[in-house]
Amino acid sequence: MSLFNVYPLFDITPVRAKDLSVYDDKGVEYLDLYGGHAVISIGHSHPEYVSAVSNQIENLGFYSNAIQNPLQVALARELERISGCKDYQLFLCNSGAEANENALKLASFHTGKKKVLAFKNSFHGRTSAAVATTDDLKIVAPLNAQHEVDFVNLGNLQGVEYILKKGETCAVIIECIQGVGGLDESTTEFYQGLEKLCKTYNVMLIADEVQSGYGRTGDFFAFQKYGWTPDIISIAKGMGNGFPVGGILIHPDIKASFGLLGTTFGGNHLACAASLAVLKVLESENLMKNADDMSAYFIEKSQNLPHLKSIKGRGLMLGLEFDFPVADLRKKLIYTHKIFTGSAKNPNLIRILPSLTIKKHHIDLFFDALKQELLLMNGM
Ligand code: PLP
Repeated sequence: MSLFNVYPLFDITPVRAKDLSVYDDKGVEYLDLYGGHAVISIGHSHPEYVSAVSNQIENLGFYSNAIQNPLQVALARELERISGCKDYQLFLCNSGAEANENALKLASFHTGKKKVLAFKNSFHGRTSAAVATTDDLKIVAPLNAQHEVDFVNLGNLQGVEYILKKGETCAVIIECIQGVGGLDESTTEFYQGLEKLCKTYNVMLIADEVQSGYGRTGDFFAFQKYGWTPDIISIAKGMGNGFPVGGILIHPDIKASFGLLGTTFGGNHLACAASLAVLKVLESENLMKNADDMSAYFIEKSQNLPHLKSIKGRGLMLGLEFDFPVADLRKKLIYTHKIFTGSAKNPNLIRILPSLTIKKHHIDLFFDALKQELLLMNGM
């Protein structure tokens, strides 16, 4: 059997990793500034994480959601305490797309309506409703297009109101900072206005924090900087530091009933042990503060970099936008300098999504490599 060929693979085979270092099968070390799509939040193979997950599998790796799981309750409590999202209810699943799928479904159950409003350049995942709310027709199959979704430009409150006042929309789904789309965000006025409109027209406001959540931006959730309150918050990626886990935080006004949502694997014992270990390390190592500090250092180091047009994003969710397409530059960073970075929909943008344990010397290595390549480009 061969693999279904959907990923453009780099010619590297990682076999081992520690903190921000990834080692290939020949023993070559790479600096990981991408965290495997923003997944690695507390560093590869963090000792506390390894021991929590290993202990859990020795005791109980999995049992179904038909029985009590005290680890889910502990995770809900810790998430409430650390995020400050008071009295929200937690539903656990396995990925970001699944989190958004459940968030949209819940909004539709709750309001009895079926249209969704999403934003241009959004990415919410690849399952049925999640992909329909993603602004990328290439990945929407005819089957997914049955969902009725209106797309509005980020920042366009009038456009939002025009759609919501028709009374057919169950949910607005938004990434507070767009990830795949290229690190764009809007203003406090827009986010607070959006919340107001959703309340006025009885529409559920879903914050997709799959990429930006769990401390990555220096706040636990990116939306918190703007002082608004979503009805549902979706999470995944950094939550399990590599263990597949996702979830939604649900406002206390939304009532549960048996069987409304469900999953076989979601919230299993191993997933909870991994997510709890991540929260513990985030707090004990003060990693949200480190995200802020290292973000400031990134910005400081990027001053006067030739060809750099702007630096977008927040915390350790950053985009360096150049005045040329960066595909070749990223290849040089990987193959010559052994540094992983990410791409985005915007071909001129390098996405930086490292573990929140990053230190100044990692950032120095990156900028040394970048400067070397930019000077070579300029023929110097
Ligand atoms: N939402 C956002 C903002 C994302 O960035 C992603 C993945 O990149 C998803 C949802 C989908 O997550 P997953 O790939 O875990 O299904």
